[in-house]
Amino acid sequence: MDEIPGPLLFLMTVIGMEGFAYAAHRWIMHGPGWFLHKSHHRPRKGRFELNDLYAAIFALPSIGLFWYGIGLGHGAGFAWIAGGIAAYGAIYFGFHDVIVHQRIGHHYVPRSAYMKRIMQAHRLHHVVETREGNVSFGFIYAPRPEVLKAELAKRGRAGVRSPRDGG
Ligand SMILES: [Zn+2]
Ligand SMILES: [Zn+2]
Repeated sequence: MDEIPGPLLFLMTVIGMEGFAYAAHRWIMHGPGWFLHKSHHRPRKGRFELNDLYAAIFALPSIGLFWYGIGLGHGAGFAWIAGGIAAYGAIYFGFHDVIVHQRIGHHYVPRSAYMKRIMQAHRLHHVVETREGNVSFGFIYAPRPEVLKAELAKRGRAGVRSPRDGG
């Protein structure tokens, strides 16, 4: 793995993490892990929600790889991958928890087409409060809102509530 330049490994990991996050959100969090993720599809009472445990769980491979690469001396490549996982976590926290769900007060208003698109896509994910029938599981890549809305309409809008606050 040391033939691949570190920054490239880092970038590939960040991109790969979007695919991993999509799969984990769709098939784990909206699957057997719904008992934790459910809290994120309900209005939050207080500062934290059970769903926050996922952030801690997804940090473990990153910590493990740092330790394996640097701590045990198996090469910096592992640390670059660990860094990519951590960076994705930080990006996700910034976009998802701070910007979209406003867990930290701010006055940011999205202006770029890209930011508007990913925010709207995630709001559409929250339109459905149940485990099934949701759309848009990824985050830094999102289909066009029209595509997501058509998909929602096709599913008969089970579990839909007004998209008032985005959850
Ligand atoms: Zn969800
Ligand atoms: Zn959310």
